[in-house]
Amino acid sequence: MKLIDTHCHLDFPELSVDIDAVLERAHKAGVAKFVVPGVSADNWDAVLNLCSEHAGFYPALGLHPCFLKGEHAADIALLASKLKGNNQIVAVGEIGLDLFIPDANLQQQMAVLIPQLTLAKEYQKPVLLHVRKAHDPLLKQLRQLKLERAGLVHAFSGSEQQAREYLKLGFKLGIGGSVTYERATKLRRLVAELPLESFVLETDSPDMPLQGYQGQVNYPERIAEVAAAVAKIRQQPLAEVIEVTSVQSSKFLGL
Ligand code: ZN
Repeated sequence: MKLIDTHCHLDFPELSVDIDAVLERAHKAGVAKFVVPGVSADNWDAVLNLCSEHAGFYPALGLHPCFLKGEHAADIALLASKLKGNNQIVAVGEIGLDLFIPDANLQQQMAVLIPQLTLAKEYQKPVLLHVRKAHDPLLKQLRQLKLERAGLVHAFSGSEQQAREYLKLGFKLGIGGSVTYERATKLRRLVAELPLESFVLETDSPDMPLQGYQGQVNYPERIAEVAAAVAKIRQQPLAEVIEVTSVQSSKFLGL
């Protein structure tokens, strides 16, 4: 069974990287599929082009809460037309709420999030969620909207109760480099205690470096180490962790 990186920004907007070398190393590490989320209308075409040029790349498009500037009605309309015209797009994302950034405005973020959730429902796509310090208001929206295909809470950082609420709604929890840090006790406890089917794996490359790689660019090949950390925490065979998480990823994304 091959690994699936359910969240990696391989368009590496601010970096110039030799994508063929990155892929060669990822393939060697057993990673076969890559979900590449867009974060603003500016990078959607780069994401779509990259994904149409490489086998095993799957695009998602969305307006990320950390990259909002003012009015986004035109971007939402553009997103709708992209979803309508391109069945290569596997999800709506990266979208969400982030109350951790300076000057965060929940109302403004919500005004951009809700129409995107509605589009996901309309086009029957799963969503890739970015959520920091805002799980409760987001869960409230999700309960109201009832997205049939649910989606993934990327780099999950909430409480056990919030985790269970997402699972009840059919969501998967994205586990990345954070789990490799000994000090991430709350997350590691969750990973140990919830059923393995609750989780999918991701790197969020080029961000979220693993323990031992702090300050370095993160790459999809490191997802093998995320899988190993999960196996160790759960005291479960690595092959089983890879198998179950990859099956879950394929299922919710329809790969
Ligand atoms: Zn991301």
